[in-house]
Amino acid sequence: MGISEIIAKWYHEKKRDLPWRKAETPYHIWISEIILQQTRVVQGLEYYNRFIEKYPSVIELANAPLDDVLKLWQGLGYYTRARNLHLTAQKIAFELKGQFPRTYQELLKLKGIGPYTAAAIASIAFKEPVALVDGNVFRVLSRLFCIQMPVDTKAGKQIFEKLAADILDPVKPDIHNQALMELGALICLPKNPACSNCPLIRNCKAHAEKKIELFPVKSGKIKQRIRYYNYLFIRDRDYTYLHKRTGKDIWNSLYEFPLIESDVSMKFHKLSSSQEWFALFGDRKTQVDRYPKTYKHQLTHQILYCTFYYIEVGFTLDSSTDKGLIRIPFNHLSRYAVPRIIEKYIDNLHQEGMF
Ligand code: SF4
Repeated sequence: MGISEIIAKWYHEKKRDLPWRKAETPYHIWISEIILQQTRVVQGLEYYNRFIEKYPSVIELANAPLDDVLKLWQGLGYYTRARNLHLTAQKIAFELKGQFPRTYQELLKLKGIGPYTAAAIASIAFKEPVALVDGNVFRVLSRLFCIQMPVDTKAGKQIFEKLAADILDPVKPDIHNQALMELGALICLPKNPACSNCPLIRNCKAHAEKKIELFPVKSGKIKQRIRYYNYLFIRDRDYTYLHKRTGKDIWNSLYEFPLIESDVSMKFHKLSSSQEWFALFGDRKTQVDRYPKTYKHQLTHQILYCTFYYIEVGFTLDSSTDKGLIRIPFNHLSRYAVPRIIEKYIDNLHQEGMF
């Protein structure tokens, strides 16, 4: 048996019972793939079920207000994906009369649908013979064939894509692709792969040469940007303030507390003498909790150190449009889509009975 036959047989016997595997419509595959790019299957399942329940088809998703979609997405991160999901749903619903494009190349033209998602929809929903290549597939292939090229370089990716295409079963690309990914997710794990349960053990070069821990090879060239976010939770009786993020940065369109960003960690005396602080409070008296909370938040290419200051004021801030601030009662906070780190801080305040 060839690799494809072996993994297809294994997949039929061992695959997880996941809801999008029952539906196999382009809409269900699309939603599941976009969600699963953000999170592990266990957590992704909850999001997927909520999404499908609220928006059972592309038409409902297209007609939903963006803020509702972002709220449902809250906690998954990469909010651009949720915005693109909404934009593309509108294009399919209104311009393409509810019909998904049926080929890999046509799917690629849609906003937010990259090579991976296009290949997933094309191969699983429309049985087009295109190979799916993600982190799981990189790992399995790199070990199966002992590939020395780093997976995190352009040249490396091209080699893996070609190899994935070479071993693809053109007759059953849906089964082949899902089987290879499932093998990476369940058996060929990043650490301690379960080789004794692997159907490809006899085909695997890294296993034969006892070199599994050397693969996949990485160049380690991806740099991390470190940022310091100083968030101001302002208590104005039973109200606080949010503003909406805009521009080409993380968390576009989400809400957050007034923010003062710095390149280095900032002591409170510096923060409270900064221009941004003055623009918010002027000379007016504020009462600041002496124990701010700092959380580290890891994104793919960024590390954020978010420090939250709890500030009580005896006046109302200017929340006119040019200041970009929205004054809201505490009990409306949960209506706004916020980054996960802000949600965590709010939960913490709740637990401590701070509002
Ligand atoms: S034998 Fe082990 S290393 Fe090789 S593909 Fe299977 S699980 Fe991965």
